[in-house]
Amino acid sequence: MEYDYGIIGGGPAGYTAGMLLAQKGYSVVLFEKEFLGGTCLNKGCIPTKALLHSSEIYKNALNSQDIGLDIEIKQFDFKKTAEKKDKTVERIRKSLELAVKNSGVNIVYANAEIEDKNSITANGEEYKVSQIIYACGSKPREIKGLEFDGKFVLSSDDVLKLETLPKSVLIIGSGAIGIEWARIFSNFGVEVSVVELAEHLIPLADIDISKRIERIFRQNKIKFYLSDSVEIISGKKVLLKSGVEINPDFILSAVGRVPIKPNFNDVTVIGDSEGKIQLAHYAIHNAKQFALGIECDAKLIPSVIYGEPEIAWVGLREQDCGDDCKGVSIPIAALGKSWCDDATDGFIKIITKNDQIVGAHVVSKEASALIHEFLIAIQNGLSVSELKKVCFAHPTYSEGIFEILLRT
Ligand SMILES: Cc1cc2nc3c(=O)[nH]c(=O)nc-3n(C[C@H](O)[C@H](O)[C@H](O)COP(=O)(O)OP(=O)(O)OC[C@H]3O[C@@H](n4cnc5c(N)ncnc54)[C@H](O)[C@@H]3O)c2cc1C
Repeated sequence: MEYDYGIIGGGPAGYTAGMLLAQKGYSVVLFEKEFLGGTCLNKGCIPTKALLHSSEIYKNALNSQDIGLDIEIKQFDFKKTAEKKDKTVERIRKSLELAVKNSGVNIVYANAEIEDKNSITANGEEYKVSQIIYACGSKPREIKGLEFDGKFVLSSDDVLKLETLPKSVLIIGSGAIGIEWARIFSNFGVEVSVVELAEHLIPLADIDISKRIERIFRQNKIKFYLSDSVEIISGKKVLLKSGVEINPDFILSAVGRVPIKPNFNDVTVIGDSEGKIQLAHYAIHNAKQFALGIECDAKLIPSVIYGEPEIAWVGLREQDCGDDCKGVSIPIAALGKSWCDDATDGFIKIITKNDQIVGAHVVSKEASALIHEFLIAIQNGLSVSELKKVCFAHPTYSEGIFEILLRT
């Protein structure tokens, strides 16, 4: 069996590269040892967002007295919520499988091993290829003293297998995964505590985003401990360095992911395996870069954290700026649409340098969509004066762009 390309790993990086190369007429074999769609579809982006959506329905249903709806929960079966999440994943996986097969890629479901730069073995068979693409992704980072046991210390993979909700949970780490799970659990009424080693929640975000999320967490009674870490675990008792004692049903340790690297140098590595930016859209872009030669500016990869309100940012943060930059923000409550949606908590902030936008930071409903409008402007060097000419529809969150430009 001989192919132009042998791709190991069927996540966003691997299947995107496979489909694009096959569309260009190359013969491609793709190896996947578990499920097509990788971490993103099976253990990451999709199942968490499906659960988040269910948790928001739950929370909003209980908080709808102001529209005359007074709901009493007679029964809540989280197992059904978990099944719905699994069905969502299966549905998408089926369509993906069809799309990859239709593109002409030969999918081999097996663990693949690189023999040399032109040879891969899987299922006891040898596959000769002209080039190997390694897209094996990453795995949850384990830290000393918090080794995963699947019972008291859970990884982001383990927590997706829950069939019942805990009463209380301790989340270690306040990156995207930690924040999203804090919101999912809290929406379902679980008592949540978050421990973060840095001085603020979401340490990678602009400082105003971190501070606003801290305020929102306080309002939602999500406890958080900053500049803190787990000191001792004794049974189910967790003692933090600060001296605080927490007694969670379990710990979710979400302190990043470790890239899975090839044991061979002469291969092309894309996606999480590359160890640069661990996001699905970066993995997809990485694949496009390889297959189509479309360049990707790593400084302009958007970050999104989901939940109510969404959090999104791209480009320079206030704390990265010198005196030549200016930060301007408007409260989301300035927009009529936010009042209609009961979603007035948040802001849009831009960082400008001369007449250009160099960073955008949004805490708002629809922030995940809004950030792309800024991204297109930044990437294309559109000046503030040019953007002012755009007519934004009313009532929308996009109108916030116009409002903020008026203040710039
Ligand atoms: C809880 C969670 C939530 C996330 N949410 C988001 C989000 O909202 N947005 C976002 O952009 N990113 C999110 N991510 C990150 C995103 O999932 C990853 O960045 C993305 O999946 C990386 O794609 P990849 O193709 O590089 O690797 P992966 O998706 O990890 O795919 C690698 C594949 O390789 C296979 N594989 C590994 N070794 C072998 C082998 N030897 N032989 C055959 N197959 C092999 C694996 O089984 C896997 O299917 C989330 C991650 C987690 C854990």
